[in-house]
Amino acid sequence: MRTYNPTPADSYTNAMTLWRLVLGLLWILLPAGAQNSLLPLTILHSNDLHAHLVPDNQDRGGFARLATAVKREKANCSACIYLNAGDLVQGTPVSTIFYGVPVYEIGNLLGVDVATLGNHEFDYGWRRTLEFQRIAKYPMLSANVVDSAGKSITGLPYVIKTLGGIRVGIIGVILENLVGSMVTAPQVGEYKVIPVVETVRKYAAELRDRTDIIVVLGHIRDREEVEAILRDVPEVAVVVAGHNHRSYPNMMNVGGRVAVLIDAYGTELGRLDLQVDRATKKAASAEWKKITIDKSFAPAPDVEQLVSAWEAKVTKVVDTPIGESRKRYTSRAELRPLLEKAMAEETGADFAWINLGNIRDELPEGKLLARHIWNILPFDNYLVIGKFKGSQLPKAITDRYPVEPDREYTVTTTDFTMSNQASPDQLSSKGLVFPNTGPLERDAVINWIKTRKIVP
Ligand SMILES: [Zn+2]
Repeated sequence: MRTYNPTPADSYTNAMTLWRLVLGLLWILLPAGAQNSLLPLTILHSNDLHAHLVPDNQDRGGFARLATAVKREKANCSACIYLNAGDLVQGTPVSTIFYGVPVYEIGNLLGVDVATLGNHEFDYGWRRTLEFQRIAKYPMLSANVVDSAGKSITGLPYVIKTLGGIRVGIIGVILENLVGSMVTAPQVGEYKVIPVVETVRKYAAELRDRTDIIVVLGHIRDREEVEAILRDVPEVAVVVAGHNHRSYPNMMNVGGRVAVLIDAYGTELGRLDLQVDRATKKAASAEWKKITIDKSFAPAPDVEQLVSAWEAKVTKVVDTPIGESRKRYTSRAELRPLLEKAMAEETGADFAWINLGNIRDELPEGKLLARHIWNILPFDNYLVIGKFKGSQLPKAITDRYPVEPDREYTVTTTDFTMSNQASPDQLSSKGLVFPNTGPLERDAVINWIKTRKIVP
């Protein structure tokens, strides 16, 4: 209740102005620590959703449940932001058949506030990433994919968001070896990828005086690039990472500066609760938890409806029975010999070779649908076939198959591997020529299972 004030209105205003001035002076005279009381900031985060729109065969994940989880967490924090660390697309038939577009449309319903590009955003060609940016209703950052004038491919190297009185600077980066990690589009057109740490350092210096805390949203190599940022760019308080599909068991902590990363495919949502000290521009405390996206989250109806509509378009193609598996294949190492056998037999080769990164999902036990193979092999890779002397073959092959140096062998691999032979996780060889092109890798495996009916 206001008390009666006998002074004229202007004196009243003057008195208030004076009072504000005194308060302001007191504020300035206070020690820095007391001035900047700690403020809470919550970062929700995900990475590598890879178009896994529906729950997996362990009943985890699904975009509709994830949307509910994000909403629930956002309702339960005072200053909250949801960051997605790249690779939203590539991994399921909806993505492969429609070049990722529907996944970005559905992704708009997840409540993402800021995202960065992942390497698989380039799988359908770099021009497609421009379309993703047009569809996304949130800013997409990329500080280190730039044109010849140094301009970001998304136009946004960073954003500043003010949340609960905290100015949060967010810098988006992608792995330096982007071109080496390309799966179907080994070109970034007129763009080039510049070094991660140097780029982060440059923008962190630019953001320092304009923000209270700096976060790097990075689709980057774990742990090399994540650690390098924490080690070499002290202005960065938090790294939210993606690209590696396995979550950190615990938050990475380098002298109070932290990095977080969670499991791929939307099976988890990360929640990082910080107390931000605006004086030091650091997190005075950080707590991290991983929320499992399971059936306890009711699917968001709008997301579920859109997912169903898109799934219905592909179901005729991919939800056809192809055979049966006697067991569940859970690891890439376990699946590789099986897939290689199928490829070799389908092309009449002595053996086939694929890199582990080619394999993107597990194979369930029991009835198999073509969809399962689409999920394992989402890339539109073709098989290529060549004849080589045993002595010509790289260690990647001779380590795993008995090979005589003078005998000639017919070998199958993918067109992707053929064009990336020198890359460390590929054949680790140079110049093997595979002159013949076979079927799509995925079609070869589907056909092999259809013919045999049983996967042992
Ligand atoms: Zn990635």
